Amino acid sequence: MEERPFSDISYRKFLEEEKFMGSRCRKCGKIYVPPRRFCLECRSEDMEWHEMKGEGELAAYTCISIGPSFMVEEGYDRKNPYCTGVVTLAEGPRMVARIEGVDARDPESIKIGTPMKVEFLHRGEGEKARTFLAFRPA
Ligand SMILES: [Zn+2]
Repeated sequence: MEERPFSDISYRKFLEEEKFMGSRCRKCGKIYVPPRRFCLECRSEDMEWHEMKGEGELAAYTCISIGPSFMVEEGYDRKNPYCTGVVTLAEGPRMVARIEGVDARDPESIKIGTPMKVEFLHRGEGEKARTFLAFRPA
């Protein structure tokens, strides 16, 4: 697993295996999700794979009624909106992901600071199969 390049493709492959991986700078310890080949902090290229805890808290969110076609295909529309949010991970980085297990029809019920846990969503089959990262209240 250490052999995989620090790329988007590797990141997605790990997701398919239900592993949430970032890259960590061996020199200064900074963690990047999605993984980066070199450290923006200290310019080191000495990176290693780092398995993320998959925990964090909700920093911001929005509820979407009119989404891209792949979300419409999943059954989301004006009557059935979905939630996307920014999660601050336990390790520090922030990332945008789907937020599951909340009532997107009642945005006021969703609270900033809610502890979140990672979830892997498998969509499509065969060649079209993809895994998405989501978070839901812990
Ligand atoms: Zn560094």
